[in-house]
Amino acid sequence: MRYDLHTHSTCSDGTTTPTELAEEAHAIGLAGFSLTDHDTTEGWDEAREAARARGLDFLPGMELTTTHGWRSAHLLAYGFDVANVELQGRLEMLREARRERAHEMVRRLRADFDADWDALLDGDSAAGAAAATASLGRPHLADLLVAGGYFRDRSHAFETALSPGGPYYVPTETLSTSEAIELVIAAGGVPVLAHPAAQRMRSPFAVEELAPLANLGLAGVETEHPENRPEWIAPLRDEAVRLGLLTTGASDYHGAGKPNRLGQCTSPIETVERIRAAAHTKA
Ligand code: AMP
Ligand code: FE
Ligand code: FE
Ligand code: ZN
Repeated sequence: MRYDLHTHSTCSDGTTTPTELAEEAHAIGLAGFSLTDHDTTEGWDEAREAARARGLDFLPGMELTTTHGWRSAHLLAYGFDVANVELQGRLEMLREARRERAHEMVRRLRADFDADWDALLDGDSAAGAAAATASLGRPHLADLLVAGGYFRDRSHAFETALSPGGPYYVPTETLSTSEAIELVIAAGGVPVLAHPAAQRMRSPFAVEELAPLANLGLAGVETEHPENRPEWIAPLRDEAVRLGLLTTGASDYHGAGKPNRLGQCTSPIETVERIRAAAHTKA
């Protein structure tokens, strides 16, 4: 009875649709999964229906990009009220900021890369229309650079042209972590700190940083994640348990967009039950 509690679909920067995700979850024998697209709940209905049709359990979720002091922190949010006006209003703003940021990065990339940028910018084209509704990120730019023959795959583009230190990089507007935790809780949801020791982060979360977040209402920490630095996991898990926080395991699957495989890290049903018990909705 294993669950994958962190996955992305074509509604943000994954490459599989919510339905394909449910198919794959079923094929590998998962009991259920959560769809946690970046800053959007767009895929929930499709994922829920596709899961139901295959006898899978579906936990609605999302991943918010936030800023915690000097660092970027990703916050998973589970089981919140999808109709919460305040939260959906902020999500709309965040996605609009993502679009403007993607467009600004295209303006910079255009000077040196001759890719099919109109696929992102031209709302009249089919690809452009899809891009206009998805929650846009650097992976979408990476795909165009790969299609243009400049890089092998998304990871290659991330290591080079799209890296934060490079001349084409533009940051996107975010919520602060505390503001995001508050919004999620006010919407009846359960906030969980995503991949706190990811290799990609300049430095992992220190154990001392968990208690203040727990005081703000953080409910859990994603300790099992393919990108967490192994040596940091045990101390973070011990501190999470000491603080009464949940610990979760999940793959951060992005389809073909990242090496992470679906079900690579998972959570037991007890974790899902604890999340549901903490949510103030019928998620
Ligand atoms: P952004 O939030 O638009 O700056 O893009 C960051 C997103 O890109 C992350 O949420 C990851 O899902 C994705 N990402 C980061 N590194 C890679 C990589 N090496 N290959 C594919 N996707 C990546
Ligand atoms: Fe992503
Ligand atoms: Fe993330
Ligand atoms: Zn993710």
